[in-house]
Amino acid sequence: MKILVINCGSSSLKYQLIDMVTKNPIGKGLVERIGLQGSVLTHRTGSGEKVVIKDEISNHTVAIKLVLEALVSPEYGAVQDLKEISAIGHRVVHGGEKFSTSVIIDDAVMEALKDCIELAPLHNPPNIAGIKACQKMMPGVPQVAVFDTAFHQTMQPDSYIYGLPYEYYEKYGIRKYGFHGTSHKYVSQRAAILLRKPLEELKLISCHLGNGASITAIKGGKSIETSMGFTPLDGLMMGTRSGTLDPAIVTYIQCRENYNCEQINDFLNNKCGALGVSGVSSDFRDIEVAAAQGNYRAKLALDIFEHDVKLFVGSYAAIMGGVDAIIFTAGVGENAPNTRAGICSNMDYLGISLDLEKNKVRSEEVDVSKADSRCRVLVIPTNEELMIALETLELTQ
Ligand code: AMP
Repeated sequence: MKILVINCGSSSLKYQLIDMVTKNPIGKGLVERIGLQGSVLTHRTGSGEKVVIKDEISNHTVAIKLVLEALVSPEYGAVQDLKEISAIGHRVVHGGEKFSTSVIIDDAVMEALKDCIELAPLHNPPNIAGIKACQKMMPGVPQVAVFDTAFHQTMQPDSYIYGLPYEYYEKYGIRKYGFHGTSHKYVSQRAAILLRKPLEELKLISCHLGNGASITAIKGGKSIETSMGFTPLDGLMMGTRSGTLDPAIVTYIQCRENYNCEQINDFLNNKCGALGVSGVSSDFRDIEVAAAQGNYRAKLALDIFEHDVKLFVGSYAAIMGGVDAIIFTAGVGENAPNTRAGICSNMDYLGISLDLEKNKVRSEEVDVSKADSRCRVLVIPTNEELMIALETLELTQ
């Protein structure tokens, strides 16, 4: 059985065709600059061979058409016939309160997805465009929506209601939703396997530390608290996003800089975070290099990031009444041993004892804590595409 996983952005489309027997991608790639000049599809075969296809890709339907052509190409394709693709799983960013699990897409679901646009105006429209394009190009093939927010729907009102008039929750749906749910769910399931314990008995803190970053408290397999909120701007300081601020700062900057709503949103999402503090880059690799060369602001950005993660880990251990394992995943979490070591330093009170030698690992599933560490520290590469494919398989089989 082969499942196609689609992740649509406004001008990009990532895809993977996964063989559900081996759980490995047999073809994958990225379409960039959809609707713009210079659009291109970069396809990789199962063995990693790269094919670049430059073409006019005016919309998501054209992009899907090219992807499907690449997948059946006699030269570099992954299947002989599209009939071999039994289902399609779509990443959808926001499912609001309507979706607490993945769902098979039908007309009612499409309507509900449109209702969620208000909550994610930048993300949900391209997700919907991708679904429509697949419906057109692959009629009759079951399609599943897998939501970034769904995993966090187990949070209770004392976690997700903000200190605002309650009517704002009722009128506008303002509440904490949380994101990166597919990743947090995947790594928590892997952690249970690695620890050889039932997920239902574990208290886990999952740290998804990439360009976007969020932390989740997972008790008994359920998300009970997470650092991103109404939008993915909240929580940790990130590559270019501010993370949690005193809300008065937002209006203060808006007045001082004469920003309209769009400008302040752009500022907080794209010009802040590690980029804003360091003045160097949003990429932690560049910041690490600059810090090592003595750049004060770069070092400060790394220190703030580690401090933020520690803050959330400590508070999540407090609300769960302890923690059995901390999971590091995503770009920084999987690849930055120094950042992991910084976060785990002085955490003896939680029973964390990092093995500095094992911690040198990058992008491998490894327990990097010492044998006597009461709280385990796990590096688990995330695999959101596989998680989407597994959920699609479960619903369509
Ligand atoms: P992601 O959003 O999960 O793709 O993560 C992207 C981020 O991971 C990049 O912006 C980098 O800052 C970070 N990253 C990737 N590789 C490394 C590395 N070797 N050391 C430090 N940071 C890394």
